[in-house]
Amino acid sequence: MAAAPAQASIDLPPPSLTEVEVAATPLDRLFPLVGEERAARLVSAAGAARTLLGDRTVWNVNATASGGGVAEMLGTLLAYTRGAGVDSRWLVLSGEPAFFTLTKRLHNYLHGSPGDGGPLGEEQRGEYERVLAVNLEALLERVRPGDVVLLHDPQTAGLVPGLREAGARVLWRCHVGRDTPDEHTEAGWAFLRPYVEQAEATIWSRAVYAPDWVDPSTVRVIPPSLDPFSPKNLQLPEADVRATLHRSGLRADGDAGGSATFGRRDGSTGVVRRHAGLFAAGAPPRPGAKVVLQVSRWDRLKDMAGVLRAFADHVDRFRDDAHLLLVGPEVAGVGDDPEGAEVLGECCALWEEQPSAVRERIGLVALPMGDLEENAHLVNALQHDAAVVVQKSLVEGFGLTVTEPMWKGRPVVASRVGGIADQVEDGRSGLLLDDPRDLGAFASLVGELLADDQLAARLGSGARERVRTTYLGDRHLIQYVELLGELLGS
Ligand code: UDP
Repeated sequence: MAAAPAQASIDLPPPSLTEVEVAATPLDRLFPLVGEERAARLVSAAGAARTLLGDRTVWNVNATASGGGVAEMLGTLLAYTRGAGVDSRWLVLSGEPAFFTLTKRLHNYLHGSPGDGGPLGEEQRGEYERVLAVNLEALLERVRPGDVVLLHDPQTAGLVPGLREAGARVLWRCHVGRDTPDEHTEAGWAFLRPYVEQAEATIWSRAVYAPDWVDPSTVRVIPPSLDPFSPKNLQLPEADVRATLHRSGLRADGDAGGSATFGRRDGSTGVVRRHAGLFAAGAPPRPGAKVVLQVSRWDRLKDMAGVLRAFADHVDRFRDDAHLLLVGPEVAGVGDDPEGAEVLGECCALWEEQPSAVRERIGLVALPMGDLEENAHLVNALQHDAAVVVQKSLVEGFGLTVTEPMWKGRPVVASRVGGIADQVEDGRSGLLLDDPRDLGAFASLVGELLADDQLAARLGSGARERVRTTYLGDRHLIQYVELLGELLGS
């Protein structure tokens, strides 16, 4: 995989880190949702952060500006930290396809899956370090000694040593993980260990994700959060949901006179466009159909194919008007996810194999990524509209695709894996599937929920309250400030 060293310098892309601009959001937008006491804690944490940081900049570095939970969360946190008067920035590293094939392999290994089955040897280490050395050079043109650099995920871990050498304060945050280590996680961690060990603190979505060689005094557990005011999560009137889905081509139902527009972070108004070719397979649900929705990247560990198979093989357990929508980003849109096209292709092939009576009740949607705020608004409308939202992941770091519909008061059925098991209190704020590979059990849970409006309403309101108490930005930001205090205060 690695190019010969003599060629490497010729083949290297220019060190083109991309800065993602994020507009500030004032913290006080959160106050009505969190109440006085939480608001006061947040204000005091913001003051502490400004004092601790002084004129330092906080840099976040990851591998993609769009698609996936990390990009989603960075947009939110940056907006609020900037609103709190902290100079925080977001840079996206660059790399060739071979680098992202390798980092996707690492991502899969850390989830306990061999992915493409390729090696993680010295040749791969050479490739990884070569690409990151180019990015480091570009980074050091901006980062000053004393600045705080928060690196995200395996793609960035190799930047830790060089940044520390340059005098930055370096934290590494891992958004992936597996509850029980296996030979693949061990191999992935062996590759990353020399870099991760040098971080001053490591941040995890769950404590069990940290491998046992990580110095426990550096470990912090900080689960993600969502932004209730982003286009992804703003409360939408029902008529606007219908207008949005109708206008975009996602549903055939009439538009009910609502508005197919959305607010952008910069204050302007976006208008939903009609998108041709949204359906990679199947068609919009028939008018009035009850939608079962899974929104995910086209990643095998999200098991879109398993959801399709469960629906198709147990279609008799679902009411006649149930329609399955599997929704992910258009496959050219997520730069650090080279498996996407393959996985979508596999799902389309599985759809083709089904009898026509089943095919017409299943749609595979590839959402355009050209306008990220429109994409977010479409996801928002789909999540509002769904009768049940599912997340049948085989492994899951945290699962914002569960938090998001929960915030919208939708009942969820999700695998009892990773951060999903923390978010959903089984029977209270959703239903957990004990064995994500048990398609019959999955179909039964979803089928029962579709048939029981009272249960759906009770779980939906429990879900919203769960997110309000635990997964909004105030908790997340306060945890970051506490960590900065430990790091910079001494
Ligand atoms: N997402 C999106 N458009 C899509 C598919 C996913 O905006 O077509 C978003 C989704 O709404 C969520 C994030 O990508 O905010 C996925 O985050 P999650 O933590 O569920 O999983 P990850 O992709 O990080 O493994």
